[in-house]
Amino acid sequence: GNQQQVEANILLLGAHDVGKSALTVRFLTRRFIGEYGDIESVYSRVDKIDGQEICFNIWDSQSTQAGSLSDKRLQWADGVILVYSICDRGSFDSVRQQLQQIRRSRKSVPVVIVGNKRDLQHHRGVSSEEGRLLALLERCGFFEVSAAETYHGVLLVFYQLVDLVRETRALR
Ligand code: GDP
Ligand code: MG
Repeated sequence: GNQQQVEANILLLGAHDVGKSALTVRFLTRRFIGEYGDIESVYSRVDKIDGQEICFNIWDSQSTQAGSLSDKRLQWADGVILVYSICDRGSFDSVRQQLQQIRRSRKSVPVVIVGNKRDLQHHRGVSSEEGRLLALLERCGFFEVSAAETYHGVLLVFYQLVDLVRETRALR
């Protein structure tokens, strides 16, 4: 078949320092570089998944307060990755708040919740069960990953979200 390229606009949101840029860079380059500037930027990567070309446009947000989440970004997004750090309970609370905000303006946009920094088990402040339960109640995808340690888990996050984006489009 002569299938057209699919565009997927993916927005990363979450508190400061949870690893949004680390996840973005891991996905784009397969690498973890350790230090990232706090730059607001959109990056692209084209992948072939099941014979279909997918263009991932990834908006790596600057860390903003939950209350100041600009609607422009939300309107742009086909899917949202909401990131917290498993070591930072405050960042998990931010995910809850941002989720409510997202639901107010984009009721049915697909969301995947990501608990990052899974490598830091000894500093864990949010259990896997809490993360999974929130995702279940809010009908979101859920992963715990370590951007520092593995590429594969990060890849699964983006791939699941793009699957959800395509399902949502097919329903329209
Ligand atoms: P952002 O503010 O959400 O974009 O967070 P960054 O991507 O800039 O990461 C903040 C800090 O956490 C940096 O020092 C990263 O090296 C570190 N970091 C990011 N992901 C991980 C991870 O999975 N494990 C560990 N141990 N550190 C991480
Ligand atoms: Mg960043």
